[in-house]
Amino acid sequence: MIFETLDTTGHEQVVFCHNKDAGLKAIIAIHDTTLGPALGGTRMWPYRSEAEALNDVLRLSRGMTYKNAVAGLDIGGGKAVIIGNPATDKSEALFRAFGKFVDSLGGRYITAEDVGIDVNDMEYVFRETEYVTGVHQVHGGSGDPSPFTAYGTLQGLMATLNRAHGDEEVGKYSYAVQGLGHVGMEFVKLLKERGAKIFVTDINQELVDKAVDEYGAEAVGLDDIYDVPADVYSPCALGGTINEQTLPRLKAKVICGAANNQLANNAIGDEVDKRGIVYAPDYAVNAGGVMNVALELDGYNRERAMRMMRTIYHNLARIYEISERDRIPTYKAADRLAEERIGAIGKLKLPMGRTAPHFRGRIRTGH
Ligand code: NAD
Repeated sequence: MIFETLDTTGHEQVVFCHNKDAGLKAIIAIHDTTLGPALGGTRMWPYRSEAEALNDVLRLSRGMTYKNAVAGLDIGGGKAVIIGNPATDKSEALFRAFGKFVDSLGGRYITAEDVGIDVNDMEYVFRETEYVTGVHQVHGGSGDPSPFTAYGTLQGLMATLNRAHGDEEVGKYSYAVQGLGHVGMEFVKLLKERGAKIFVTDINQELVDKAVDEYGAEAVGLDDIYDVPADVYSPCALGGTINEQTLPRLKAKVICGAANNQLANNAIGDEVDKRGIVYAPDYAVNAGGVMNVALELDGYNRERAMRMMRTIYHNLARIYEISERDRIPTYKAADRLAEERIGAIGKLKLPMGRTAPHFRGRIRTGH
């Protein structure tokens, strides 16, 4: 049964990790290591069933293969889930037990933070294995990725404006920014610096006030963000906000934001395309976070990180070329770019092979 599933999803390896004393029940999924060791965060969540946890880790790890490939990294796709409640079930023993399992894979899987996990948890994992990113800055970690994600989103925006309008003058256009958290607020700041008109919304009123006071944004209601006369809709909160209900309301001809899984489904992605809206594929435009942690493996350097964020412009431009070349919606073109890159690099048969790093700083990220 499980192998049948893996035939469809294309996973290489799935590891069930169990330690009764530490209360650890975790699953590590390595999807594809053609480009390099599998990198992807660990999520801690009170899954209602083991099947639900397995489903989630298979879906998320496959997504990481595509994201890392489009980002131009020499990194494959993987992910881990820990079954448990992050509010009540965390302990040093749990994370150290998990770290031992990560270590046992010899670098085929490298972990990082995801939902429910913070930098302090990663410190425990780091005690047991070096195959971890997103550790504290004092250990050579990269810190909060959000400003990089926002800057990368700006690079993707310029490529997307170019595709839609033939120019990249960010300040010439108006924006509807949904969500003013770590990434959204920074993105608003970058837009303001370029002189743009910005509409904002958030469930947190303090954040809305800040965007209005500091960046001259215009506040609108939570549901009104879909109706404002903005040139660009920028989802920076939750996934699934582009759906059957919201799409007909959008005036924007460009969709570009940092949120994950923006399209409710593929059919909506096709409909976006039919309406002549240029959609910046979410996992390509928000790759700043994963680029930042990948750089930790190479010895973190802020300047290199900023340079790497600028490659997002070219990744998006390439996706739009493929979309035009093959006459497919941009969300499909992003997948195709990933598959083409994995196919091309996989065929190289490099003489040294691409094996696990022996120690921190051995993986080449290509930038
Ligand atoms: P965050 O939690 O700091 O911010 C999200 C914000 O959205 C919060 O301020 C929240 O109040 C607001 N929000 C929630 N529901 C809303 C709604 N219905 N309407 C309006 N606002 C709402 O998260 P973040 O780190 O800024 O990430 C934002 C998005 O970008 C997420 O989807 C995340 O997965 C994605 N992302 C983030 C990074 C990163 O580096 N942080 C990298 C890649 C992708």
